Amino acid sequence: GLGLTGALAYSIYSLRHPEEQIEPDPEKKTLVILGTGWGSVSLLKKLDTENYNVIVVSPRNYFLFTPLLPSCTTGLIEHRSIMEPIRNILRQKKATVKFFEAEATKIDYEKRVVYISDDSEIKGDISHTEVPFDMLVIGVGAENATFGIPGVRENSCFLKEVNDAQNIRKRVMDCVETAMFKDQTPDEVKRLLHMVVVGGGPTGVEFAGELQDFFNDDLKKWIPEIQDNFHVTLVEALPNVLPMFSKQLIDYTESTFKEEEITIRTKTMVKNVTDKYIEAEVTNPDGTKAIETIPYGLLVWATGNAVRPVIRDLMDQIPAQKNSRRGLAVNEYLVVNGAENIWAVGDCAITNYAPTAQVAGQEGAFLARLFNTMAKTDAIEKELQHLSNTQSQAKSNDERNEILDEIRERQKQLRRTKQIGPFQYSHQGSLAYIGKERAVADISWLSGNIASGGTLTYLFWRSAYLSMCFSTRNRVLVAVDWIKARLFGRDVSR
Ligand code: NAD
Repeated sequence: GLGLTGALAYSIYSLRHPEEQIEPDPEKKTLVILGTGWGSVSLLKKLDTENYNVIVVSPRNYFLFTPLLPSCTTGLIEHRSIMEPIRNILRQKKATVKFFEAEATKIDYEKRVVYISDDSEIKGDISHTEVPFDMLVIGVGAENATFGIPGVRENSCFLKEVNDAQNIRKRVMDCVETAMFKDQTPDEVKRLLHMVVVGGGPTGVEFAGELQDFFNDDLKKWIPEIQDNFHVTLVEALPNVLPMFSKQLIDYTESTFKEEEITIRTKTMVKNVTDKYIEAEVTNPDGTKAIETIPYGLLVWATGNAVRPVIRDLMDQIPAQKNSRRGLAVNEYLVVNGAENIWAVGDCAITNYAPTAQVAGQEGAFLARLFNTMAKTDAIEKELQHLSNTQSQAKSNDERNEILDEIRERQKQLRRTKQIGPFQYSHQGSLAYIGKERAVADISWLSGNIASGGTLTYLFWRSAYLSMCFSTRNRVLVAVDWIKARLFGRDVSR
C-alpha cells in the first residue's frame, strides 16, 4: 500500500481538486447563493453540491470571521488571520461550485435573474451581466446605519469589513503621531487623542475595550508623552450600553470601563458630525436637554444595521413585502414572503431574532438541510414513478409483490425525509470582550450569566473564539498573532 504518507498526500490532493464537472447539468436546478458571510458560507459548507448547479456571487472572495474584527483595529490580530478564501471552501466540495466576484446590483423577481457587476479595480470586456436562477438564497447582509445624520459617512470609520479595521488602525496611529507633531497646541493634542465611539452595542463596546487595551499594553509604553491626553469615550443614545445583556452584566461592563478609564456617555444622541467634533443632544438627570460639542481625533460609528439598496429594491417588487421596514420578511422556512423559491438568511432577513452571526450561521445550516432533503425527496419520487411503471408491466404475481414491497419501502422513506420542521434558532449564548482581559457572557445552557474577569474568563473567551474559528488554518494564525503580541507588543507602524 501507499502507507500513511501516501494516504495523506492523496487526501490533500483530493481536497485540492474537486471532481471536475465541466458544464452545468441541464437536468439539475440552478441554485444561486448571494453573499459570502455567515449565512451563505454555513449553507455552502453543509450543502450537497452535487444535487444542484450551484453559483455563488459576492464582491468579497473570502469569509470574514467578524467576532475578531475589533482585534484587527489595533493590530493585535492580523486581518489575514481571520479571512478564509472562498475558493478554499469551494474546492473542498464534491461537485464544482461556480464563483463570481461581483456585486448583485438588482434582483429581478419576475424574470428570475440577478444582475451582477464587477466592481473590482481590474475589469475585463464584460463587467456587467445577468445570472438566471431556479432557486435563490439571499445572504447579502446589511449596511451601516447612519440614520441620515449629516457628516457621518464623510468623517467616521465603520467597523464591518476588513478595510474598515485597517482604516481605523491607520487613523489611530495617525492621530497619535500628529498629536506629537512639533509645536502642536495643547487643545489640538487633546482633540487628536480623543477617540470617540458612537453606539453602545457589542460592536462599540468591544472596540472601545480593544482600543483601551492597546493604549495600556503598548501605546503608552512606546509613546509616554500621550499618557495624559489619550482618552476613549463611548457615546450611547439609550440609558445604558449593551441593552441585550442582563442588568448584572451591564453593571459589570460599566464598572470595568470606569476602572479602565473609558468614559461612557449614555443618554447622548449624536445629531451632527463635522471633521473635528460631534454635536450631541444630551438628556440631563432632570430631564432637560442640551446640545453639546465633543471634539474628536478618531470617530468610530457603530450604530447597527440598515437595509441595503438591492434588498429595498426587491422589497418594492413584491407586494407582500410592503409593510416590512428593516429587511426581507421571511416565513418559518426562511422563504421570502410573497416570493417563490427565494430564501433569505442573515442580516438581510427579518426573523424574531437579533441579527447576529450565530443566527445567520444556523439559518444557513438549516437551508442546507432543507435543500439536501428536497433533492433526496425528488430522487425518491422519481424512483417511485419508475417502480410503478415497472409494476404495471410485471409478468408474475411474485414479481409484482416484490415491486409493491419496494414501493412501500420508498414511500416510508419519503414520509421520513419530508418531515423537516421549520427553522428554530437555538441560542448558545452571547459573549462580548470588554477589555482588560475581561469578558461578559450569558451562556444559555448554563442558564446563567458569567461576569468575571481575570485569567479564567480571558482564557475562556480566547478558547471560545479559537474553537469557533472556521478552519484549522485560521485557528493557528490567530493563536500565533496572540503569542506574537504577548512577546513583542502590537505593531504601532501606521
Ligand atoms: P446595535 O444595534 O446592537 O447597537 C447600536 C447602538 O447605537 C444602540 O444601542 C443605539 O441606541 C445606539 N445609537 C444609535 N444611534 C445613535 C446616535 N445617533 N447616537 C448615539 N447612539 C446611537 O449595533 P452593533 O453593536 O453594531 O450590533 C449589531 C448586531 O450584531 C446586534 O444584533 C448585535 O447583537 C450583534 N453583535 C454581537 C456581538 C457579540 O455577540 N459579541 C458583537 C458585535 C455585534
